[in-house]
Amino acid sequence: MGHFTRVVEDFTCGRCGAAVTGDGYTNHCPVCLWSCHVDVNPGDRAADCGALMEPVAAGLRQDEWFLVHRCVACGFVRRNRTDRHDDRAAVRALLGRPIPDSS
Ligand SMILES: [Zn+2]
Ligand SMILES: [Zn+2]
Repeated sequence: MGHFTRVVEDFTCGRCGAAVTGDGYTNHCPVCLWSCHVDVNPGDRAADCGALMEPVAAGLRQDEWFLVHRCVACGFVRRNRTDRHDDRAAVRALLGRPIPDSS
């Protein structure tokens, strides 16, 4: 894992259009769980891609839930912590899916 840069910003989900209130850590939509490929390390906004990232799996590791996102454009795979605002049913729906190797 790389370092984490805290950036507080609100954004509109590029997938479902939900208005997301940023708390500095949320990098995905709490409704549909889609993310956006804007970071190299979480929060750094250093990626040039900018495409949507699909939630492809979820799991539990050391008592922390995580999501696995894969970029629909370039295939970049990243794990993200779930947020307390995330839709639990949407997270559960991803359980048991094969978890791709993250680069
Ligand atoms: Zn959404
Ligand atoms: Zn990408």
